[in-house]
Amino acid sequence: MNHQKLILFDFDGVIVNGIDEYWFSSKLACEKYLLTNSTNLNINKYIEVPKIFIEIRPWVKYGWEMVLITHEILKTHEPLNNLTKNAFLENYEENCSKLLSDYSWKSIELQQSLDDARVFQIRNDLKKWISLHQPFNEVVSFIRNAKDKGYKIGVISTKGKTFTSKILANLNIIPELIFGYESGSKVDIISNLSLNYDIKAFVEDRRKTLSNILQNDQTKFINCYLAEWGYLKNIDKKDLPQEIKLLKIKNLEDLVAN
Ligand SMILES: [Mg+2]
Repeated sequence: MNHQKLILFDFDGVIVNGIDEYWFSSKLACEKYLLTNSTNLNINKYIEVPKIFIEIRPWVKYGWEMVLITHEILKTHEPLNNLTKNAFLENYEENCSKLLSDYSWKSIELQQSLDDARVFQIRNDLKKWISLHQPFNEVVSFIRNAKDKGYKIGVISTKGKTFTSKILANLNIIPELIFGYESGSKVDIISNLSLNYDIKAFVEDRRKTLSNILQNDQTKFINCYLAEWGYLKNIDKKDLPQEIKLLKIKNLEDLVAN
């Protein structure tokens, strides 16, 4: 069967830098939607995105973790700071789970608070919300050109699909396929796509996600690229298995070279 050629992209950290949006939306979620006593939060402590939030970004998988981390940075009593950051990151997933249980929160509630904060901003001032996302222009141009050359484009985001679609439309990118967190794990999404498409590449800035793709029988043959311009930990670039190629933004054309 002659399957259509498809290139898959992660969204945040690959097509856009959404760190500002994550911070301001998470802050709004804490302030307005989270079932917490916001008098315990130093909501106005930071005018700009705090450095610690940017430093923690490479560890984050889901949007709800952003809300949790923002809460920890902003809380008045024993906030997450430079002194406690390393210990927190050493057992990142366990620490997030422990915080959820300490507060009796569910991840789904935090995700909902983030989504509600986004809906609020979109209704209030769509332009301003869009402007919090900085596109990687080289990637945007590459996607437009690849479409002209007959490649289909898929975007797999851990944001909600409607939010991802709005930002992409604003960048004048209309991918054939857009998936949000509602669609399940990236491995499952890509497994299903591999039945119907000739997947040429998957570009992602989370190394663990690429490793998962390579450990799955259905997806292990896919060309996996780690986006060097994304949110990487220092160790992510070291000792990469040969199946994961480190992609520099100036070498995007490598994706269509074979
Ligand atoms: Mg990413």
